[in-house]
Amino acid sequence: MIPPRHHALLDALSVLALIALPKLVGGVRPHVRRRFYAAGAAVAGYSLLTRYDPDQDRPLGMRAHRLIDAAQGAGFCMASMTVPDPRLRAGMQAYGAFSVAVAALSDDRDRRIGAQIPVARTALTGQRTGALTAIGADIACLGLGIVNVVFLGRPDAGDRGWILLDAGLPGTASRIAAAAAARFGPHARPAAIVMTHGHFDHVGALQELADRWDAPVYAHPDELPYLDGTRSYPPPDPGVGGMMARLSPLYPRRPVNLGARLRPLAQDGGIPHLADWEWIHSPGHTPGHVALWREADRTLLSGDAIITTRQEGAYAALVQPPELHGPPAYFTSDWPAAAASVRRLARLRPETLVPLHGRPLGGPQMREALDRLAREFEQVAMPPETAQSLAEAGRGHLR
Ligand SMILES: [Zn+2]
Ligand SMILES: [Zn+2]
Repeated sequence: MIPPRHHALLDALSVLALIALPKLVGGVRPHVRRRFYAAGAAVAGYSLLTRYDPDQDRPLGMRAHRLIDAAQGAGFCMASMTVPDPRLRAGMQAYGAFSVAVAALSDDRDRRIGAQIPVARTALTGQRTGALTAIGADIACLGLGIVNVVFLGRPDAGDRGWILLDAGLPGTASRIAAAAAARFGPHARPAAIVMTHGHFDHVGALQELADRWDAPVYAHPDELPYLDGTRSYPPPDPGVGGMMARLSPLYPRRPVNLGARLRPLAQDGGIPHLADWEWIHSPGHTPGHVALWREADRTLLSGDAIITTRQEGAYAALVQPPELHGPPAYFTSDWPAAAASVRRLARLRPETLVPLHGRPLGGPQMREALDRLAREFEQVAMPPETAQSLAEAGRGHLR
């Protein structure tokens, strides 16, 4: 299949061909030649309006563009029948056939711009009040623009009676602290901060909040090097499509250093101070990524392993039309492990899914979409080049 960027080159070639054809054939009368120039201008015109790349702000999608290509190609073939000059007729037929072939062979699935697994808005769950979405009596998800943090504990949990999951973007410490004070009371500090992983959009306010609350910070042993200053995450992949991805080389990767506050999560899967929750190692996005699971009401806090918005694009990351989506692609380092983690989490058959990017979803529609994401992960969630090279290496379907 012809990818859109090659298609753009072929469109430019078409314009040149239409301008050159009458000259190459020779002896074409001026009014006929002008028609070719007009056709070249028309192709240039609709090409300039075409969104060859999802980030381009142009009205014409690849699908519509292909239809126009095919129509004008067919038009040339038909018009050639009435042309007496055999050389001009052959030239027009060759051009027409070329246009139809390019239209037929071009890739307009454009899946980087579309939703991975779309979900109806009726799958949205929780009671939304401003930026805070309450799920049941003891979970509250605070949206901070492009990322969430989660409060775990009933509003009457009191001082040291609740847990903060992850710590948002840099500069959000006072917003998180204010929301915590509003939910748990002005002097209620968390018993601990638990980290799903240490990416910059999850540790932004961590140091400040841990100091303010004098709270320990828990993470998976494999994630500790990224939280104690020893190791940086690998560089992001800005080529996966989308504005957030394109900007990703600018995101901070240097590790924070929590020093003595940092503790490993217990090997038995338990979460400190939360008897009914367990952590589940779900590597791939990062080596020590964890999700949190509560069997009693089948609630999954999926971290970045499964999210419900297209985090790679700036529009979707902010507006968050719901969808089931694999981990943010620009920052995911081990794709086979990420696929295995999604499948492992999907097998839990959650009733409620609370991600750290996007809004909480619940019920059978969510589960159906989650099953599909698990089934089709290589096709919808992996960068195509990665999926292809894994398939070639014979390990494209880790189950
Ligand atoms: Zn992340
Ligand atoms: Zn994230």
